[in-house]
Amino acid sequence: MLHEFEFEKPRDLQDALALIANNAKEAAEDSGHVLLAGGSNIIPAFRTNQGSPEVVIDLGGIDELRFIKVENGRVSIGGRTTISDILNHPDMPALAPALHQCSKIFAGQMVRNVATIGGNIACGSPASDSVPALLVLDAEVVLVSQHGERSVPLDEYFTGYKQTVRHAHELIAEISWPIPAANAASLFRKVGRRKGDAITVVGVAVHFVQQNGLCNSARIALGAVGPMVYRAKRAEAALVGNAISAELIDEVAGIAAADSTPIDDVRATGDYRKQVIGTVTRRLLRQAAGLDAEDGVCHD
Ligand SMILES: Cc1cc2nc3c(=O)[nH]c(=O)nc-3n(C[C@H](O)[C@H](O)[C@H](O)COP(=O)(O)OP(=O)(O)OC[C@H]3O[C@@H](n4cnc5c(N)ncnc54)[C@H](O)[C@@H]3O)c2cc1C
Repeated sequence: MLHEFEFEKPRDLQDALALIANNAKEAAEDSGHVLLAGGSNIIPAFRTNQGSPEVVIDLGGIDELRFIKVENGRVSIGGRTTISDILNHPDMPALAPALHQCSKIFAGQMVRNVATIGGNIACGSPASDSVPALLVLDAEVVLVSQHGERSVPLDEYFTGYKQTVRHAHELIAEISWPIPAANAASLFRKVGRRKGDAITVVGVAVHFVQQNGLCNSARIALGAVGPMVYRAKRAEAALVGNAISAELIDEVAGIAAADSTPIDDVRATGDYRKQVIGTVTRRLLRQAAGLDAEDGVCHD
């Protein structure tokens, strides 16, 4: 049974920010107010008595937070944009290949139709699938409150397990990233216990750009293998400045695996996850470099 709470449904963003400011208890969202977007995380949490907010603020009526825009060399998506919106946008395979691939295998269609990108980031889960795909794009999170707006690089947004830099009086208004270079290569792969509606056991996103035969920027992001999604920065650095070869990819994948410290849990052991990081990173880098054909599979 759900506990009792007040339910607010603001008509627009200003109304929502005022309600959030009135109800904010710093660092205590779960006991002050909670935002409701698609409800795919928060409703199951209420049902299992995780958190007991006094006020639920439904963002469902705020259309100004639901958009996909391309302007001034950047792609921006509103916090209330759903995973289906991303999947169905015709330009997304070029604007964010790894995010588009992630959207294909995110939950099942019913959840994708309600689950929002803002909700996926806000929950701070290390298994949030959009986060590795956005980290490799150098995405930024735009937070708004009644005091104004600030942008935080996604790479600096998470501070620990389900901990973020967002204050209780702020909401995620937008996520944005630079349009990838035309010759950028990006891929995402999720390994789970089954193909549909599975919590990620290991998530990997890779992205790199080559110029004159050398890699001039590289990103590798790993999900579900630490307290938060993170970039494998030593592995990235091993790619940059070098010609991408099968040998280099083996070395880079080995670094990503060696530097990881995944834990055992109900879904997999830490040892298994470590091996999967190496295998999937190697496979994605080889496919992105054109050494192997892309298999079009986004999950195993
Ligand atoms: C069957 C099932 C399958 C799933 N499969 C996947 C999967 O494959 N991959 C995956 O990553 N996740 C999965 N999830 C988890 C969930 O669907 C996602 O995390 C989803 O993106 C959450 O978005 P939401 O809009 O439903 O968030 P909600 O449940 O509405 O909210 C989640 C949290 O985010 C906060 N929040 C929401 N919007 C904002 C905002 N704009 N600003 C600040 N805070 C905000 C809320 O207050 C709450 O704390 C699954 C869930 C279910 C039930």
